[in-house]
Amino acid sequence: MRIADILAEGRPTCSFEFFPPKSQAGVEALFTTIADLRELAPSFVSVTYGAGGSTRDLTIDLVTRIKRETGIEAMAHLTCVGHNRDEIREVLTRLAAGGIENIMALRGDPPKGTTTFERHADGFGFGSELIAFIKNDPEFDFCLGGGCYPEIHTECDSAERDLANLTLKSEAGVDFLVTQLFFDNQTYFHFVECARAAGITVPIVPGIMPVTNNLERLERFGARIPDELRALIADCPDEAAVAAAGIAWSTKQCRELLQQGAPGLHFYTLNKSRSTANIVRNLGDLLPIPAGVA
Ligand code: FAD
Repeated sequence: MRIADILAEGRPTCSFEFFPPKSQAGVEALFTTIADLRELAPSFVSVTYGAGGSTRDLTIDLVTRIKRETGIEAMAHLTCVGHNRDEIREVLTRLAAGGIENIMALRGDPPKGTTTFERHADGFGFGSELIAFIKNDPEFDFCLGGGCYPEIHTECDSAERDLANLTLKSEAGVDFLVTQLFFDNQTYFHFVECARAAGITVPIVPGIMPVTNNLERLERFGARIPDELRALIADCPDEAAVAAAGIAWSTKQCRELLQQGAPGLHFYTLNKSRSTANIVRNLGDLLPIPAGVA
């Protein structure tokens, strides 16, 4: 099913993002995680595309296997990094043949060891170009998601410019947007307001990373850590306390987002189920699990 249609049903969506493990043992562990999370009746799950196209085959295999074996709607991420148009077309063909209907179409980060993104001579320089390319190819009929950045993309120097660039995704036909992770809901609410004022009408799903004790890692994604959260984590005596505090913070964050109209929640799970499952269960009144699933 197309994610745009799932979002159009009007119930808040709940989705989980995974990355493709490198080993067979990792893949099997991921399927255990997916089995745990399946009880929560996710609207869809997604599988990331490794930096520089490094996981092309793994992403395609995993996303098609998830859809085939679990029946959960699955979205493949795809980036422009290092790919020419023919390679992108080949990935699209394989995804379509595997029954995948949804793609998160992104520019991607510069490959490891480099700081600037280099467009392939016969490829794309921005997410909006990839979106336009897929939408304009009559051979394909994918529902497309795009990334967006309530705290501004790390390479952009102004919110206005970043938003103007985001409108290009909207004009290219993106069907929905998912945000980079953030911890201060006001940045999301303000961003959505600005996007609507700029004429972007598609659903903007907040991306949620359950809090971990590695705040530096979270900051690398460009997320500002509120002082209150930093102090909360600093006061925790051990990992178990951090996990509990993180679950409590994220539950409160998600509750406010849904109560104030966010169309759903997209969890960056890091392939682990515990924190995400606890947060979703805590939100049972706002994210009811359909009868017969749990
Ligand atoms: P773009 O929208 O192309 O923007 C990149 C930069 O260029 C921004 O600063 C923007 O302001 C600027 N820009 C855009 N258009 C123009 C223009 N026409 N002229 C000038 N400047 C412009 N990365 C992965 O490698 N694999 C993944 O699976 C993955 N999944 C992600 C999922 C989500 C939901 C999100 C939010 C991010 C994900 N990322 C992933 C990270 C993403 O690839 C990086 O953040 C990347 O740097 C930006 O990709 P984009 O398509 O959002 O960028």
